Amino acid sequence: MESVTCNLCGSNNLKPVLKTKDYRFQIDNKLFQIVKCKNCDLKFLNPRPNEKEIKKYYPDDIKWEKEEPKVQNEKYSIIKNLKKGKILDIGCAKGEFLSFLKNKGYDVYGVEPSADSKIAEKKGIKVKNSISDFKKNFFDIITMWQVIEHLHNPNETLKKINHLLKKDGNLVISTLNMESSEAKFFKKHWFHLDIPRHLYFFSPKTLKKLLQKNGFKIIKIKHFSKQHSHAGIIFSLKNILINPKSRKTKIEENKGKNHLFTLCKLVVYPLSVFQATLKKGPIITIVAKKL
Ligand SMILES: [Zn+2]
Repeated sequence: MESVTCNLCGSNNLKPVLKTKDYRFQIDNKLFQIVKCKNCDLKFLNPRPNEKEIKKYYPDDIKWEKEEPKVQNEKYSIIKNLKKGKILDIGCAKGEFLSFLKNKGYDVYGVEPSADSKIAEKKGIKVKNSISDFKKNFFDIITMWQVIEHLHNPNETLKKINHLLKKDGNLVISTLNMESSEAKFFKKHWFHLDIPRHLYFFSPKTLKKLLQKNGFKIIKIKHFSKQHSHAGIIFSLKNILINPKSRKTKIEENKGKNHLFTLCKLVVYPLSVFQATLKKGPIITIVAKKL
């Protein structure tokens, strides 16, 4: 375990916000603490597993669902109006989204440290282990879908990303929103906290500050995500109501076939649309431009 200072402003004037545990995979029963920087409001896990220790919290026996076409279309709707060309997806997994973009004429590159990189490579995607392996001033677009909250040093990563982009190149980041109504309502039971895999818990304000610090201008913030419209509420309720001894997350893995889940989705969907109109949706997507 390591203790860190604020990644945004360097302050060590921190205040505990909440204590919670790994509800999702239940790797252990340890309590983790989220703190808030009193100087800039950034929220983060502290103390936290270091880069070596964090590996045990990523189980390798989870069967992730294939990325659905509607998810790919939603991601594409965000980037299709940006300048087309060379695109890098950081945390590209099996390269499903990049493969979709390749068919639309993009020149596709990925970063994936896990064994999934081999699968992405077979789809004709140029995959590397780390962002440090790419040339500077090279990309038109860089995307990070639900990745920044997992990083040990997002400030350092954004600095590197800025160097990799061409001038006026675009960066797209989606992450959870700690100012969302779900975060405020469910508190330590909120599904999207997903600790200790998530290390940073941004709000539109703190993410904007970190981007500005690293040479980006914010063009757009989207507060609604179709992909994440229902899971937050349904699985947060599950965290409150069910406290299984085993780490089976069957509903999550088989959600496509689960009728109860479909019913919950129908009930919850209008609520999530409403949250987004108040700019309080659980997931934010920011489009920024390199200055
Ligand atoms: Zn700070």
